[in-house]
Amino acid sequence: MAGTSLLDTVTSVFEQAASKLNLDPGVRALIGSPEREIAVTIPVAMDDGGLATFRGYRVQHSSARGPYKGGIRYDTGVDLEEVRALAALMTWKCAVVDIPYGGAKGGICCDPKALSKRELERLTRGYVNMMDPLFGPQVDIPAPDVNTDETVMSWIVDERSERGALWSRASVTGKPLVLGGSRGRREATGRGVATAALHALRRLGMDPVGRTVAVQGFGKVGSWAAKFLHDAGCKVVAVSDVSCALFREEGFDVSLLTEHVSGAGAGLLQGYECEGMCEIPRADILTLDVDVLVPAALEGQITADNAGAVKARIIVEGANGPTEFAADEILAGHGITVVPDIVANAGGVVVSYFEWVQNLQCLQWSMDDVMARLDALMTKACDEVWNTAAREGCSLRTAAYMLAISRVAEAAAARFSSIPRRGG
Ligand code: GLU
Repeated sequence: MAGTSLLDTVTSVFEQAASKLNLDPGVRALIGSPEREIAVTIPVAMDDGGLATFRGYRVQHSSARGPYKGGIRYDTGVDLEEVRALAALMTWKCAVVDIPYGGAKGGICCDPKALSKRELERLTRGYVNMMDPLFGPQVDIPAPDVNTDETVMSWIVDERSERGALWSRASVTGKPLVLGGSRGRREATGRGVATAALHALRRLGMDPVGRTVAVQGFGKVGSWAAKFLHDAGCKVVAVSDVSCALFREEGFDVSLLTEHVSGAGAGLLQGYECEGMCEIPRADILTLDVDVLVPAALEGQITADNAGAVKARIIVEGANGPTEFAADEILAGHGITVVPDIVANAGGVVVSYFEWVQNLQCLQWSMDDVMARLDALMTKACDEVWNTAAREGCSLRTAAYMLAISRVAEAAAARFSSIPRRGG
């Protein structure tokens, strides 16, 4: 089963949880399928005077519980199937943390590192040009994802208003503060990952202080997760990114790592030096003997091939879809607890929701306010998932999907009276 696609994984988990819920077959087919899928070709005038074309996608998976919500990623691996899987994950993620959204995802197949800033801007504006009628504060609200950031969100906001859309701050989240972004949005996903990890440690009766942590991916999610776990007294003994993997038995000073990455490292860990540290093969980060492993890079990292070698006690999924379906069973067989992506990395979309709420009310909350609300919402969602797993005798992933699916099914049934309720 190694090498299964993200869509295979997401579909298999959905089917497993839907069966456990005894979901009506009609409802299962309805909420399991994307409502709308769009693929476009975007022409971009390149800096050298040439013309290039790129494929872009938006999949609107579900609007049963509220407007479509989800990020846009720029990556060479983007295709319709991947975006379809990521859109479904957003539906389940928003439902499991109980925020009033459906799910969507967008992406452009491109190598952002090979494009100049001006080319990226033209590409973004071209994407909005092709997609715009689909977006709006009560319709579909984009946000950052892999390789997109506040700057890209600013271009989206600007292009929408250039195109005659009402200038509404609530039409995009993950914006810079000056355009109505929320305090705490940058650190939100990593903060939520840390909250989910600390919650898991406590539920397993393990005092977080001195617990060892390995983090795969030191970007927007992993670096903040590492910081907050370090702040809570954990020992971050290993970190990795595309450039290298570093190990230090006594634990890293995470603020020094971050300083290096945002300074001399030019975005990468490569070149970081400190006493007692060594470089390890990048693949080894997943199989270190640690208490907590945080895969916070890309999907499909823990597979049927390497799951047997994982030695962590707890895996907290910072990335979307880092564990293949077949790997889950192997991990469970080894007594490894997996806190699934749709709960563990929901902090990003939770603060996106806070941003949207602030925008709609023309308010700005303080950092303390945002963090307190985020922590409370994440803790409540984690509790609900752990309690459901205990009650149903299933994994946290199955429990999270069961909770999410039943909420989406209930909303769909409430909206369409011809849909039978759960169980037929
Ligand atoms: N891209 C993030 C995710 O996968 C955040 C989405 C959002 O804020 O809408 O959850």
